[in-house]
Amino acid sequence: MNDDLTATLRDRFGFEAFRPGQAEAIESLLAGRHTLVVMPTGAGKSLIFQLSALRLPGLTLVLSPLIALMKDQVDTLRRHRIAATFINSTLSTEDQARRLRALARGDYRLAYVAPERLRSAPFQEVLRRVRVSLLAVDEAHCISQWGHDFRPDYLHIATARPLLGRPVTAALTATATPQVQDDIVRLLGLPSAQRIVTGFNRPNLTLRVRYTVDVEAKLLALRELLSALGDGGAIVYTGTRHDAEEVAEFVRTVAGLRAEHYHAGLEARVRTRVEEAFLGGGLPVVVATNAFGMGINRPDVRLVVHYALPGTLEAYYQEAGRAGRDGEPAQAVLLYAPRDRALQEWFIENSAPGAEEVRALYGALRAAGRSKAFRTCEELSLATGLPVIKVRVGLAQLEAAGSLERLGDAGPRMLLRLGPWNEEALRQEAAQVEERRGCRRAQLGSMVAYAEADECRRRILLDHFGDRGSSMAESCCDNCLAGPRPDEPPSVGDVAQLAPAERVALSILDALRRLRWEVGRRKLAQLLKGSRAKAMRWFAYDRSPYYGRLADFTLPEIEGLIGQLMRRGYLKAVGGEMPVLRLTPQGEAALHARSPIRLRLPHPPRPEVVAHKKAERDAGGTVAL
Ligand code: ADP
Ligand code: MG
Repeated sequence: MNDDLTATLRDRFGFEAFRPGQAEAIESLLAGRHTLVVMPTGAGKSLIFQLSALRLPGLTLVLSPLIALMKDQVDTLRRHRIAATFINSTLSTEDQARRLRALARGDYRLAYVAPERLRSAPFQEVLRRVRVSLLAVDEAHCISQWGHDFRPDYLHIATARPLLGRPVTAALTATATPQVQDDIVRLLGLPSAQRIVTGFNRPNLTLRVRYTVDVEAKLLALRELLSALGDGGAIVYTGTRHDAEEVAEFVRTVAGLRAEHYHAGLEARVRTRVEEAFLGGGLPVVVATNAFGMGINRPDVRLVVHYALPGTLEAYYQEAGRAGRDGEPAQAVLLYAPRDRALQEWFIENSAPGAEEVRALYGALRAAGRSKAFRTCEELSLATGLPVIKVRVGLAQLEAAGSLERLGDAGPRMLLRLGPWNEEALRQEAAQVEERRGCRRAQLGSMVAYAEADECRRRILLDHFGDRGSSMAESCCDNCLAGPRPDEPPSVGDVAQLAPAERVALSILDALRRLRWEVGRRKLAQLLKGSRAKAMRWFAYDRSPYYGRLADFTLPEIEGLIGQLMRRGYLKAVGGEMPVLRLTPQGEAALHARSPIRLRLPHPPRPEVVAHKKAERDAGGTVAL
């Protein structure tokens, strides 16, 4: 490695050594190569362009959508006596003008701006006069519709590069699958870019999925996880604002921990207060939507729980990765309910209007009579019966097809002017919507595959990001920790050797393992109960050696026992609308080793009831005592 670079790292930034990928990326940029850096959150991507900036003659222009974080980064640089600034909408007009003048004089090595600034005429004027040696595009995944945070302003960067004198460009992101990486280099116009993908393994993070059938199971799991939280912090991510509020209330009242909710619907003042309380360590738990996170780098977050299934694996790992920034052991736990998957699927299918619905929307607009009118989404939703989200997307489609002009907004009211219906353009729009939908389905598919997997979860993540590096970890994931997969199936006879109370758990596991069809919780309970339901015969469940084995418990009791096995990680429910049960690797291992699993039984097993049931079955269901 370049000793000079290490010296700069020590002298200017006060760090002892480079982290994986940093030196390689800096060397690539200094050699004049465009470079795409994919490294996880917290890996230290900023240092790559910051240090490069010090070794290059002119200005390093940093594009970032995260206006709120610019000040922090610039303050840190200034503490290291590095001339840096940011120009964004949080500054007064005078302050912006002052900084622009300083920029034109060449006072700064680094300047941070949001991508939309590239469209500003005064800014363009200044850029014509300074030499930009390095363009750093941070959060570069925002350029891709496949990413989880598409921002149209990013598409303008390629157009603006010639104006900057086609500088060497660094694109940096934490969340790019190989497909998103392709998009980034293509849409930035850097086909020859060097790609550096590294550091996705976070060896101190233990990855777990807890299979939770319903809200109650989730809350129980959450309480249990939080009860083990020591001094550090915990973040619980929910899918909706409403859940954030309710779950925070649960954490306060039932788990007895200080907790606040956080989402984009809160006033900025409140959000800042929660952020600061959490970052300062005074607040242990935040329950939040995905609005919480950008710039949250509290080092001692010990636990990140996902209360709902994220739509993409990128979003998941980015959020989960906020645990354990200090390198100490931390947990990332996904509470997986098959219902969440069904819900996500529903959102995908219902997020955009179909062709007929767009036509109906156009009809509703025309019905107003005037060609130009103020309308709101709510009002159009009422008029058409379409959900607001479909109205929004539909309006955008009409606009893109030239059938509608959006002249200006006044709060929720939009001034709309109707144009001619354009069948062909709308057909193309619809095709694009369908493509985006397909992409979201595929992304959800990867997320679900992770949630339902029996293999090493870390390897799944690393492969997803294209990181070929090692997946070694102290305490890897629930699947790895469950031990090696059994190489021979257990036999019923062995299970029968155990004490009755221990036999119950293994009976449930083995009954499930031996079934040829997939079953849900209710069906399995019916089988174990020895139910007379028709399905028992149709699917030959009544020929299972376990049919009626738990006959002395009621159906709800048996479902409760199955629930205990799920909570303790031996069973999982997977699938969408109609979830089915499967053994987890831990369940397989327990069955193989015939481990005594002590379930809390409603009452001790009564063998005579079971024997009676068996006699009844052997006699073809005709015994009457
Ligand atoms: P990213 O943008 O990849 O999410 P940041 O650039 O914000 O990560 O860096 C995360 C933290 O790591 C920062 O506090 C930064 O100072 C620190 N850091 C970066 N490089 C090093 C290094 N070589 N040694 C120690 N700390 C580093
Ligand atoms: Mg960053």
